[in-house]
Amino acid sequence: MTISIKGDVKDISLAPRGKDRIEWAAKDMPVLRLIRERFEKEQPLKGVRMAGCLHITTETANLAITLKAGGADLVLCASNPLSTQDDVAAALVSVYGIPTYAIKGEDDQTYYNHINAVLDHKPEMTMDDGCDLVSTIHTTRKDLIDGIIGGMEETTTGVIRLHSMENQKVLRFPVLAVNDSDTKHMFDNRYGTGQSTLDAIIRSTNVLLAGRTVVVLGYGWCGRGVASRAHGHGANVIVCEVDPTRALEAVMDGYRVMPGVEAAALGDIFISVTGDLHVIDQAMMERMKEGALIANSGHFNDEINIPALEKLAVSKRRVRDFVDEYTYADGRHIHLLAEGRLVNLSAAEGHPASVMDMSFANQALGSEYMLNHAKELEPKVYTLPAEMDKEIARLKLHAMGVKIDTLTPAQEKYLNSWESGT
Ligand code: SAH
Repeated sequence: MTISIKGDVKDISLAPRGKDRIEWAAKDMPVLRLIRERFEKEQPLKGVRMAGCLHITTETANLAITLKAGGADLVLCASNPLSTQDDVAAALVSVYGIPTYAIKGEDDQTYYNHINAVLDHKPEMTMDDGCDLVSTIHTTRKDLIDGIIGGMEETTTGVIRLHSMENQKVLRFPVLAVNDSDTKHMFDNRYGTGQSTLDAIIRSTNVLLAGRTVVVLGYGWCGRGVASRAHGHGANVIVCEVDPTRALEAVMDGYRVMPGVEAAALGDIFISVTGDLHVIDQAMMERMKEGALIANSGHFNDEINIPALEKLAVSKRRVRDFVDEYTYADGRHIHLLAEGRLVNLSAAEGHPASVMDMSFANQALGSEYMLNHAKELEPKVYTLPAEMDKEIARLKLHAMGVKIDTLTPAQEKYLNSWESGT
């Protein structure tokens, strides 16, 4: 093993375990493998300096290996202080030669030092999960803007931040909203978040979901996945929403729908997946039952009003890994998982490789697309071409051994005509 220590990781000696786990994930990433094989031959990203601010997981490592195989000169940092897998970070640096700045549990200062360290690489392309590279570049590292071709964004929250930059006319280079591909949000956000969130809650508490009341706050793609998986475990699911159409959809899907404060007194487990501020607020936490569990699988930990929880409690202690027990003056115990940070990546391993295969196929093909088309693009938020999205679905089906029908010429003609009616 060649050791070239570039980056900042917890313990480089963890690398062999990281390598084994990266290879394990690779087995379930067939679409990304096909892209890597082509990238190795064609070198579409040759010499392009790239910075990635992503959750440092076994799946991200496989994306990084793919980009490097395509010729990219890539450096990585964490997109969340608690989601890094330290063995993976070690392997990226020492086995795969990809400089990585990420330590699980790093403080906010270190988190931003790491972001600045990858920006010192003077990237020509950025890849974000949550928009932290792009926002740092547009605030404190404006000197880099002229050298940047474009960027890619992985997640809903990042896309929301980018749209706000575009609307305020401050965005200075084009960004591809990878999240908005169908093969991303309909699968990663729904089935990925659905499974990994429950995995994290179960791993950290060993709770039985059957018969419990699970309150899901937010019925976007993530909320739909969490609710359906909790229901599948036999939980009674309550959905809280602010959007009338989504609330209606939740009702039609068979869930009880009510305001958060009403659900507060009924729930055993609360899961926020909204991307918004204080959706689990003081009024809810005051009403919760003895033993309630609170978890967040959305954007930042401020979906839960943690300062209010701290004030409500007379004491706090860590009772298990990733579980803090808050005791109220009347003796009730309320449990906060993973300090309110996204529970699926903090207390478990994030989404399974099989679903990240599609998300990261979008990232890899998106990088190639951005490089080839940036000149035609304005400093706006774009989606990947629909044909690329469909191709990823086609490749995934092929890898899964699933065959589908194709339109006959007559059917195609019929769909494109308007003359014939009843
Ligand atoms: N950026 C925010 C929230 C995004 S987390 C934060 O850090 O708080 C959700 C994103 O994590 C999704 O878009 C998903 O694609 C990504 N993700 C989930 N599992 C992952 C995994 N195993 N490896 C890398 N990224 C993962």
